[in-house]
Amino acid sequence: MAAKIIDGKALAARIRGELAVEAKKLHERGYQPGLAVVLVGEDPGSQIYVRNKTKALAEAGYRCFDHHLPATTSETQLLDLVRTLCADRAVDGVLVQVPLPPHIDSKCILLSIDPAKDVDGFHPENLGRLLIGEPRFIACTPYGIMKLIEEAGTPVRGASAVVVGRSNIVGKPVAVLLTAADATVTICHSKTKDLPGVIGTADILVAAIGRAEMIRGAWIKPGATVIDVGMNRLPSGKLVGDVEFAAAVERAGAITPVPGGVGPMTIAMLLANTLESARRRADGQP
Ligand code: NDP
Repeated sequence: MAAKIIDGKALAARIRGELAVEAKKLHERGYQPGLAVVLVGEDPGSQIYVRNKTKALAEAGYRCFDHHLPATTSETQLLDLVRTLCADRAVDGVLVQVPLPPHIDSKCILLSIDPAKDVDGFHPENLGRLLIGEPRFIACTPYGIMKLIEEAGTPVRGASAVVVGRSNIVGKPVAVLLTAADATVTICHSKTKDLPGVIGTADILVAAIGRAEMIRGAWIKPGATVIDVGMNRLPSGKLVGDVEFAAAVERAGAITPVPGGVGPMTIAMLLANTLESARRRADGQP
């Protein structure tokens, strides 16, 4: 039987609708949620991401402080802007779109963001808090992945979960969240021996690799829940995930499509984190 398709687009729209209601309530108390989005240079992919983010912010009734800087912007100028935005009481979240031009040290910029306004959840302090089970902001893509697993109705407690990919922004935080939710988690990467064998043990599989359809459908445990984070553009222009969807859909119990799975959830959870930050401001919390 074909797998249930986990519709990330519909779930994200529902969450954004709920957030818009909450944002309106906060606005009525005098605290309109506000996110500053900083884009440096003309990277076409980044421009699309930023446009999608600003559109979602406007639709949900948030303020968007849009800063598009030329590619010639110096690291010092960008640091000054980030510090100014972090000090601005109307700004609840500060997001600097990556990749940055090569003459700017991304790590240095990330560290300059006030962790209390790091709604991307990438700052080492926020990743550390997640690790010790006291999260402030959960990185948006991992947060969205957990919501998709919940939406699929998949029990996580006691499940065997396999995460393929160990990046700081997806693989590692997802593994931490699944562990906190009582799954037994295995993390795979490019040096893993017998990847098909490990994947075959997974009740829950999260693929965050960045290689078009590398995970074959035949490797998947029948009935598994499959979350495909990968976004890979084929020469034909078609966007595909890291999982061989056509074959996987015949074995899995539930699966996210690409596009329309994880991608829309990332923006929805960015709005969720920004609202949470605004709520803390309204309640006078640090
Ligand atoms: P990274 O490139 O940072 O990490 C990729 C990971 O995949 C690494 O840990 C790497 O292992 C592992 N890997 C590479 N090749 C293999 C292999 N042959 N077998 C097993 N593991 C392998 O990528 P990201 O985590 O940033 O992103 C992963 C994918 O998710 C990309 O396609 C990206 O576009 C997408 N993405 C989608 C988002 C969304 O909103 N939908 C958001 C963020 C990312 P090693 O550590 O050993 O090198």
